[in-house]
Amino acid sequence: MSELETQGSGWELPKGAQPWSSFHWFRVGARESLSLVLLSERPTWYLGHYVEGRMVPCGGIPCELCGEGLGSQARFVFAVCEVTTRRVGLVEVSQSVAELFRMWEAEHGGLRGMWVELYKHSHSVRSRTECRCVREDPGHWWRSLEVPDPGVALELTWRKAGFKRSRSGSRVSARPSGSG
Ligand SMILES: [Zn+2]
Repeated sequence: MSELETQGSGWELPKGAQPWSSFHWFRVGARESLSLVLLSERPTWYLGHYVEGRMVPCGGIPCELCGEGLGSQARFVFAVCEVTTRRVGLVEVSQSVAELFRMWEAEHGGLRGMWVELYKHSHSVRSRTECRCVREDPGHWWRSLEVPDPGVALELTWRKAGFKRSRSGSRVSARPSGSG
């Protein structure tokens, strides 16, 4: 994705721009589950490396972390709304959880409007995240919500974390620059 324009004239925002300046990332707590309605029509994925307790985007070829022999894993990102607070944000899941979404998507007839609950396998944030599908109608309140673009959210989040991408491609500096 190219650099976002942050200013311009006219009514039309450039492609990729949206009225979001920050994004909320939902995380599954040790003891409370996350109850989410999916707002995305399809998943957004990226390949990442797990480094020092966090996911770092794979920089493509060449990637320093691939070069170090660190395996990459697919991560799937969805725009969601939390059912109790009705807060809109994003959630990132592993490929195994995404496979469940995919299975339920077929039953549900689409991702959008599907109600899922994410929780930890044991009462520890380090334990694996599990998921179940809530087979109830969440109602229609979520239909009018603005849907954040997961690709833009990832880009901004990585930029804030100091992962730099070159303009020409998807190359990422694997190490945070440290400035913030
Ligand atoms: Zn890599």
